Amino acid sequence: MQKDKLRIMVLGAHPDDCELTTGGTCVKYRKLGHVVKYVYTTNGNAGHHKLSKEEIAKVRALEVKAACEVAGFEYEIMDNNDGYLEADITNRDKLIRIIRKFQPDIIFAPRLNDYHTDHRRTSILLQDASYLLMVPHVCPDVPPLRYCPVIMYVADDFNKPVPFEPTIVVDIDDVFETKMKILDCHKSQFYEWLPWVDNYENEVPADKSKRLQWLSEKRGAYYSLLADKYRHKLIERYGEEKGSKVKYIEAFEISEYGAQPTREQLSGYFPF
Ligand SMILES: [Zn+2]
Repeated sequence: MQKDKLRIMVLGAHPDDCELTTGGTCVKYRKLGHVVKYVYTTNGNAGHHKLSKEEIAKVRALEVKAACEVAGFEYEIMDNNDGYLEADITNRDKLIRIIRKFQPDIIFAPRLNDYHTDHRRTSILLQDASYLLMVPHVCPDVPPLRYCPVIMYVADDFNKPVPFEPTIVVDIDDVFETKMKILDCHKSQFYEWLPWVDNYENEVPADKSKRLQWLSEKRGAYYSLLADKYRHKLIERYGEEKGSKVKYIEAFEISEYGAQPTREQLSGYFPF
């Protein structure tokens, strides 16, 4: 089912996950007038070392609001505690209702073998929800979907039991700056929590005006590594000339639990 305006949903466990994995691609969708909604399955209230759980949940809600405003994404934060997400029937049904109401063409989500308990459970919740989206007797208060959305997994580095293998790669060079501005909204994460938990606090520039540049270099390195890792896919998609020059990418793998588009349909879902 393809329309003029695609409806794109991204599932992430924590406020900043969707931005990290799909920020560039979703800016590209928005530029073409498609609708994007970020859904976070937890409130991120374990993501700080100094602020209380209540305080950091509030801060992160504001950071999400700011980040989604940069590119015009809709968003929703589910009321689950960070680090304690349950892949249970209650959350599955909540997710079914959210998906049915939004009616996405594509849903982006983490794979099942991610390192973080909340990421994995987000993936399980979507897997459990996927077929039931179309079953009227499940969550009968919201009309079922009459189609199955395409599900795309976001890139990761986990190799067991199977490595991530991209179905499609997206050149994000033209929107990289915007992606970094989106990430920059998550100040509590990129300048405080993550440097603390991964022991690189001394790298964060004291001068706040230098932080965005630092973030772009720090985070850009990963998207650049992805580009080199999947260079052959870039050349296949964009041709030798352009594909060999792309610096930053995002990459996605089709899931067996969603609709299985043809090659042609898939390029319609990634119209850039
Ligand atoms: Zn996360």
